[in-house]
Amino acid sequence: RAFNFNAGPAALPLAVLERAQAEFVDFRGNGMSIMEMSHRGGVYEAVHQEAKELLKELFNVPAGYDVLFLQGGASSQFAMIPMNLLQPGKVAAYVDTGSWAKKAIKEAQLIGETAVIASSEAEHYTRMPSLEDIQVPAEAAYVHLTSNETIEGTQFQAFPNTGDVPLIVDMSSDILSRPLDISQFGMIYAGAQKNLGPSGVTVVIAKEELLAASPNTIPTMLRYDIHQKNNSLYNTPPSFSIYMVNQVLHWLKEQGGLQAVQEHNEEKANLIYDAIDSSQGFYRGVAVPENRSRMNVTFRLTSEDLEKSFIKQAEQEGFVGLKGHRSVGGLRASIYNAVPKSSCEALVQFMKQFQQQNS
Ligand code: PLP
Repeated sequence: RAFNFNAGPAALPLAVLERAQAEFVDFRGNGMSIMEMSHRGGVYEAVHQEAKELLKELFNVPAGYDVLFLQGGASSQFAMIPMNLLQPGKVAAYVDTGSWAKKAIKEAQLIGETAVIASSEAEHYTRMPSLEDIQVPAEAAYVHLTSNETIEGTQFQAFPNTGDVPLIVDMSSDILSRPLDISQFGMIYAGAQKNLGPSGVTVVIAKEELLAASPNTIPTMLRYDIHQKNNSLYNTPPSFSIYMVNQVLHWLKEQGGLQAVQEHNEEKANLIYDAIDSSQGFYRGVAVPENRSRMNVTFRLTSEDLEKSFIKQAEQEGFVGLKGHRSVGGLRASIYNAVPKSSCEALVQFMKQFQQQNS
């Protein structure tokens, strides 16, 4: 298999792919594939329910929260959040951390009164705003932030205390990469295609009282309360994607749960950051050390020509997805949960070899 450093869709655990392959044509003796089954039947519903329960178990989700499986990607949540949760007279408060935060802000501005309460734009998004700088306005309906900026390679290691105002977090690129106290959040959400499974399903974990607050003036399919009341089966769910999420959650449990996953992720990230830091300026990390992402390692070389040659040579040696996002350039190694440590070791070896050849 390739050394897959894609930012998303991203590497899946080989064991999950193999299990899905074994069950693909005849799902557990039912004479058909899971994707051919009715979503109203017991076999599919058990898979659906188990995925919800596994998410709650792995993430230690407290009582009073529910899990939704939605479509439209995390990008649709950018609009659904203000449509459902921004009451008239209130302000949607956003923390501007980079590319994905900006997209969320843009959608909220279409819906209602929106304020950017902290931003790291002046530092070219090489860091996250400090927690002290995130001041919650009295009239805030919620505070929204992005836990991991996939493109810039920055990550919050702790979250602001927003008091009674719900904290809503886009965790698309770092969900289930570490244990977190879910009670500090009103809602978290993530497109599945990085840490959870294939694209096609978006996971929302939220306080039931928030999910119940949807106005009845917005389209039915965009209402959290409708999806929650119907156990994410109001319409046909992306059943195959949810089955794959179920398999990934089983795999995460087999890895020893989120504490073990976090330790593994830190080891992987440290390998690459150490290679950058010990390169005497040949490689330069984009993010400030205290906000470095453990999921997306962004770095530069001393010239764009050298970066092009790095990517080309890396591709020839079986490394996929190391080109930085087209909006920022540079290099990026996305090392989500399913990327094995051996891939990171191979990358470090390649980085050292490339440095030797080019300095
Ligand atoms: N938010 C973050 C942090 C992301 O990294 C991405 C995708 O890369 C998105 C949102 C958008 O997700 P989707 O493609 O599921 O709409």
